[in-house]
Amino acid sequence: MFDELTGNSRVKAVLKRMLVSDRLPGAMLFTGEEGIGKRLFALEVARALNCRTPKDNEACGICSSCVRIGKLNYPQRDDADEWSQIIWTNHPDVGLVIAPKRVLRVEQMRQIEKEANFRPFEGKARVFLIDEADKLNDASANALLKVLEEPPRTSYLILITARPAMLLPTILSRCQMIRFSPLTPDEIETHITKNNLVDAKTARLRARAAGGSMGRALSGDLVTFTSQRKAMLKVLNALVLSEDRAQLLRSAEQLNEAQYKDEFEERLDVLETLIRDAWMLSLGVDSSRLVNEDLSAELREVAQKMDSGRAADWILQIEDLREQLIVNVNRKVTTDSLFLVMAGDVAAGKRPKVR
Ligand SMILES: [Zn+2]
Repeated sequence: MFDELTGNSRVKAVLKRMLVSDRLPGAMLFTGEEGIGKRLFALEVARALNCRTPKDNEACGICSSCVRIGKLNYPQRDDADEWSQIIWTNHPDVGLVIAPKRVLRVEQMRQIEKEANFRPFEGKARVFLIDEADKLNDASANALLKVLEEPPRTSYLILITARPAMLLPTILSRCQMIRFSPLTPDEIETHITKNNLVDAKTARLRARAAGGSMGRALSGDLVTFTSQRKAMLKVLNALVLSEDRAQLLRSAEQLNEAQYKDEFEERLDVLETLIRDAWMLSLGVDSSRLVNEDLSAELREVAQKMDSGRAADWILQIEDLREQLIVNVNRKVTTDSLFLVMAGDVAAGKRPKVR
């Protein structure tokens, strides 16, 4: 029942059409960012193929096949050898592989090749999910190609990745690509609220902080997020309201402290959302459309003093910094200079206010 899954109605329609017309490709590649349900959709396809009482070619969700396909038997121990086997569901025809360490191994692909050649033990089709397919190296990709070249008619491979560009063209050319979109904040909020995962106010905040990813909405650490926002709002205030350079340098320093090392990019993300929100408010957009809706009072204050040209520059400057980080420049120096360049416009006050 695809309807039970959140978001991506276009993907649902495509998959349903393929199932109904009995033209599901033997090899598919599900792409789209992390945490938006690609794996759940893949398992739903496996269910639809093996359901004992399907309705309109969709899985019933309640027969023993459907129930067992929903249960993956992950190894209990942190043992690379155990994680290097196919991880079966409770259904003998549906399994998954993921990278035990940083790469998917050749023996995992050989195991899939061997298993894919068997006829289904119980259901109508064997389905193998290859998660984190971007972690195929040359050797394992070549082993997988053997299956992709001549997939047995009753076996289906579903590759899953957030980084399709990392895959070899030979793999890409043999898979039908299905692109997933990020979820909207409303879709995430509805899902979280419907399943009673958190209270309504937190659901709204999480949905908006998640950047389209259900995974992030559910696993994201709200305490960290709140403190990141507080720190980055200080930067924005120092830029626009107090024009306090000392505060900016303190913030830059804090951003570079060892304890926040892993959060560096997240904090830049947060700063960008705050700038965008203030910018939207300055354009008269309703506060319900902001990422940081709960901070709309603070942001409105910023918006009143900020001109949109400067907001656009700031976002470009942050993006520049990100590019520089890819080539590994000194982070401390670049952050200091980022904030000072951003402040440059404030202090000099040269740019005419555009309203
Ligand atoms: Zn069923």
